[in-house]
Amino acid sequence: MNLKTFKRGIHPAYHKELSASLPVERAAVPKQVVIPLRQHIGAPCEPLVKRGDLVEEGQIIGDAKSFVTAPVHSSVAGKVKSIGPMPFSGGGKVNSVVIDTAEDFLPKDWTAGGEAVDIDSLTPEAVRSAVRAAGIIGMGGAAFPTSVKISPPKDVPVDTVLINGCECEPYLSADHRKMVESPVDLLKGVKAIMRSVGATRAVIGVEDNKRDAIDAVKNAAASMNFAVEIVELETKYPQGAEKMLIKAALDRTVPVGKLPFEVGVVVNNVGTAIAIYQALAYKKPLIERVVTISGNGITTPKNLKIRIGTPFADIIEQCGGLKSGLGEMLIINGGPMMGITQSTLDVPVTKGTSGITCLAATTIKPTKYDHCIRCASCIDVCPMGLMPLKLGDMGRMSLIEKFNEWAGLSCMECGCCSFVCPSKRPLVQWIRLAKIRAREAAELAKAS
Ligand code: SF4
Ligand code: SF4
Repeated sequence: MNLKTFKRGIHPAYHKELSASLPVERAAVPKQVVIPLRQHIGAPCEPLVKRGDLVEEGQIIGDAKSFVTAPVHSSVAGKVKSIGPMPFSGGGKVNSVVIDTAEDFLPKDWTAGGEAVDIDSLTPEAVRSAVRAAGIIGMGGAAFPTSVKISPPKDVPVDTVLINGCECEPYLSADHRKMVESPVDLLKGVKAIMRSVGATRAVIGVEDNKRDAIDAVKNAAASMNFAVEIVELETKYPQGAEKMLIKAALDRTVPVGKLPFEVGVVVNNVGTAIAIYQALAYKKPLIERVVTISGNGITTPKNLKIRIGTPFADIIEQCGGLKSGLGEMLIINGGPMMGITQSTLDVPVTKGTSGITCLAATTIKPTKYDHCIRCASCIDVCPMGLMPLKLGDMGRMSLIEKFNEWAGLSCMECGCCSFVCPSKRPLVQWIRLAKIRAREAAELAKAS
C-alpha cells in the first residue's frame, strides 16, 4: 500500500521498541516541584503567590494579562519555598516558583465527580476560556498557548481539525501510548476543538509504526459513532512538523511565513486534545503529562505520567538510574533530533517535555567536521526546500542579510541536513545561530 507522506525528510533509526509497548505508569510524587513561570511561547507569567504561602494542587500560581500566554498551576499541595530564577530544561534560567510538597499530600482524583459538561453543546467561547484557564499549551514541543491556537480570526474559515499523532522523533512513545490507552478522551477533545474553531471535518494523522494506536482510535471512533478520518502515514521524520503533516495528511500547502489557518486547518497534538477534554470535563488544569524516558543510557525505559515541576534527577532515579556517570552521557529534553541537551539533572519537567532521552557518549557522533564536498545531500532532504549548505555558511560567517534573502528564517531546525551531511557539518547549529542574529537585527531595526 502506498502510504501518504510529504516530500523529502529522512528515516533515522527510531528505537521505539524500547518503550512503545510499555503502559503509562504514574511517577512518584516529588518532595519538591520547581514550576517555571514561562513554559510557553508568549508573555511570561507573573507570580500570584509569595514565599511562605500554602497552595493547593491545581491552584493557579502565575498568570499574565497578555493574549498570547498561559497561566501556570501548582502540581502539588504544599508551601512556597522561594520564587526566583532556576535552571530550565529549555536552556538558561527562568523565574520559577519552588514548592515543598506537604508531607500529608494526597493526590486529587480529578475524575471523581464525573463529567461536568456535555462537550457537544459547548460554545466556542466556553471551550477557549476553559483551555485558557487550564493553562494548556501545545504538548508536542511547540509550547504555543492552545487558547490562541483555537481562536482563528473571524474572517478566516477553518474547515478541518488535524490531530498530530505522528510522534516522529526517535525514542519517544508518549503520544503513541496516549492513543492506545485514552482514545475516547482524545476523540472528545477533538470534538471540543471542532466546536471552538467551527470545523466540520476531523482528521488524525498517525504513522504506520503505531498499528495498535491506529486500531485503538478507530475502534473508539466507531463506538462513539464519530466520523473522524484516521489517516495512516508513512513513517518519516519530520512528519510531525505542522506544515509537513498538513501536506502529508491533507495535501494542502501552507505558504512560507503563513499559519495553518490560511489553508483552513488547525493542528493540535494528541496530548493537547486529551488535556482539553480533561479541562472541560473535570476542570483539570495542565499539572501533569506523559513523558517517555528512553535511550541506551537509561537502565529501565518507561512512559511516566509526571507532575509538572518534578526534577529530571527524580525521574531518572525512578527509571533505575543512568547506566554510567553523567559525564559519559547525553541527556536530552525531548528527542535526539530536536531536543535540547542538558548540562544538569536539576531541571524540571515542564508542560513541553515530551521525553527525556539518555544516550551513552559512545553513540554520539564526533563533533569534528570537514569541508563541504558539494554532494547536495542536505538539499535533497530539507523538507522546507531550502539550501542548508548555503544557509549554514551564511550563519557561520554571520552574513545575516544574505541569510534573510535565502529564506533562512523558514528553517524549522529539524536537523535533517546535519543528519545526512557526510562531512558532519553542524548546519542546523549554524542556522539556529543565524536565526537568532536575524531576529535580533530585526528588533534593533524596529527600535531605531
Ligand atoms: S535547513 Fe532547516 S528545515 Fe532544512 S533540513 Fe536543515 S534544519 Fe531542517
Ligand atoms: S550534505 Fe554536507 S557536504 Fe553535502 S552539500 Fe550539504 S553541507 Fe556540503
